[in-house]
Amino acid sequence: MNRRRFLKNAAAIPLLPIAVSQTLTTTAGRAATGIPVRRVRPGDPSWPPETEWNKLKQAVGGRLIEVESPLVPCQNSPDGAACAEFFRQLKNPYYIGDHPALTQTSGWVDAWTSAPSVYAVAAKKAEDVVAAVQFARVHNLRLVVKGGGHSYQGTSNSADSLLIWTRAMNSIVLHDAFVAEGCAGKQAPQPAVSVGAGAIWMHTYDAVTTKGGRYVQGGGCATVGVAGLIQSGGFGSFSKNYGLAAAGLLEAEVVTADGAVRIANACTNPELFWGIKGGGGGSLGVVTRLTLRTRELPKHFGAVFGKIKAKSPAAFRNLTARTVSFYHDQLFNRHWGEQISFEPGNSIKISMVFQGLNRQEADNVWRPFQDWVAGAPQDFVFEEPVKVVDIPARHFWDASYMKKNHPDVVVADDRPGAPEGNVLWAGDHGQAAFVLHGYRSAWLPASLLQKGQQHRLVEALVASSRHRGVALHFNKGLAGASTEDLAAAKDTAMNPTVLDAFALAIIAAGGPPSFPGIPGHEPDLIAARRHASEINKAMDELLKVAPAAGSYVSESDFFERSWQQSHWGSNYLRLAAAKRKYDPLGLFFVHHGVGSEEWSADGFTRLTGP
Ligand SMILES: Cc1cc2nc3c(=O)[nH]c(=O)nc-3n(C[C@H](O)[C@H](O)[C@H](O)COP(=O)(O)OP(=O)(O)OC[C@H]3O[C@@H](n4cnc5c(N)ncnc54)[C@H](O)[C@@H]3O)c2cc1C
Repeated sequence: MNRRRFLKNAAAIPLLPIAVSQTLTTTAGRAATGIPVRRVRPGDPSWPPETEWNKLKQAVGGRLIEVESPLVPCQNSPDGAACAEFFRQLKNPYYIGDHPALTQTSGWVDAWTSAPSVYAVAAKKAEDVVAAVQFARVHNLRLVVKGGGHSYQGTSNSADSLLIWTRAMNSIVLHDAFVAEGCAGKQAPQPAVSVGAGAIWMHTYDAVTTKGGRYVQGGGCATVGVAGLIQSGGFGSFSKNYGLAAAGLLEAEVVTADGAVRIANACTNPELFWGIKGGGGGSLGVVTRLTLRTRELPKHFGAVFGKIKAKSPAAFRNLTARTVSFYHDQLFNRHWGEQISFEPGNSIKISMVFQGLNRQEADNVWRPFQDWVAGAPQDFVFEEPVKVVDIPARHFWDASYMKKNHPDVVVADDRPGAPEGNVLWAGDHGQAAFVLHGYRSAWLPASLLQKGQQHRLVEALVASSRHRGVALHFNKGLAGASTEDLAAAKDTAMNPTVLDAFALAIIAAGGPPSFPGIPGHEPDLIAARRHASEINKAMDELLKVAPAAGSYVSESDFFERSWQQSHWGSNYLRLAAAKRKYDPLGLFFVHHGVGSEEWSADGFTRLTGP
């Protein structure tokens, strides 16, 4: 059978039973013969004809969207009111999330630019996902999956692709006593929450904490998608106390490349279960539902903010040394998370959070440090006084309460008729639709906090911060967590170096929303490349004291060379085996995802056969 006829026949049977259709697909057939596989693009003779798209549309209950770029008004009239309105809306992550053509990061200079798919299946149920997976496989299409759309690496968008868009799969159900399927008698029933693949953390926290009075470990940024974060491992502000978000996964429903709907948990499909816990989103299948354990809520959550400037480089070194020893002595425990940044202007910025303490207790912890700073006015000045706040934990993600009592820390979805619960942290607002100039991260080993080692860390932080601000995200390193949470994190695909890290150091820069080719709204390439160079220099200084540091798959360098080692370390071989088992033909491709080394950078050409 010649290729054209073969494709035509395959096109006529998009929803064949898996076993049959798999042997017929061009991907399978061609890979088996060693011929490079090329995914089809619009305009290619094998691109599915309209009749086929109509069949898919019917199969998914009409939920097939022909995706239009929202940039069209800007291409037609960059100075026009419609274009200005589009860029205004782009600062609203809920607007972005509700648009099939947009992503929360608009691009990364010299790496990628957000591009709409040709078609999107706005999935509402697992059957829609099955139909889309089958269609993409049979027609040899580039397939992408988007949930919350927060990938920094651009892994939830691709031109010329079919998108599975899970936004509408947003149900949230609480359980008092959940037992994973097939685990009866092996696992004790426990409180849990099941969410659809499109749920975001803000709505999940609202259901679990505000309404349910419980805690679920998720992400810090409220508009991140649950499915994307869990698959990348995932850290929230309180991860030192509750561990890795993925470690709280009890069960997932996953549509694999063969179109099967599989249950994955510790007792059923355990390798798939292990792989989606930190193995990276969009690589092993499409997760359609997740069930996460919930835990007891503490009485209080709170935060400490402030900024201290040193008046000379020598004073800055002292301040850095004092901050490191203060962190080690007082904050390196399960109460404390989030960040302290070391800035080029000889200042440190404090944005810490705590759990399980009240305001007075937290203030007592910080008092000696503040007194030390205040006692040397010749060396230091409080650019922002240290401020300690606490709130009843149950109100932490309570949008109405926060709008009323802490209006400066939340930003509301400003679209007419937007749900009351659509808010985000003001601290994350700057990242809405921004364009990255560079982003690197490194897990810093807790050994650097030992008294005899602290001077090395201090020197590295000082040297690094001469180039660019370095933020230590303490909640994104698990050293200091409980034995139980460390064991649960160890049973995930994430790089094991996270277990011994006291923090994830992040050095990054970005600019406002912009797109190449839109006059007046183009990325600033000169600034971007300068920032990227500064970030590299700053990270090189840190890596001198942490040469084997891994980096967090979701918050790492697009250009990372040894990404397999960096993101997954000793777990990569096992992860690659899971990939071969569940997606042997590489239907699911993402930049620097497991198995992506077998594909061209754009995921359209298979370079090596399975
Ligand atoms: C502003 C901002 C703040 C962030 N804050 C944090 C933080 O506090 N803690 C933290 O750990 N991380 C954080 N991240 C990183 C974030 O967790 C990851 O980028 C995460 O993968 C985003 O998930 P998403 O669903 O929102 O994004 P998407 O871009 O939709 O998805 C991310 C990846 O997962 C895949 N994917 C999504 N849904 C599915 C699905 N149902 N099945 C299979 N694959 C799927 C996509 O294909 C893509 O490859 C942040 C990112 C941003 C942009």
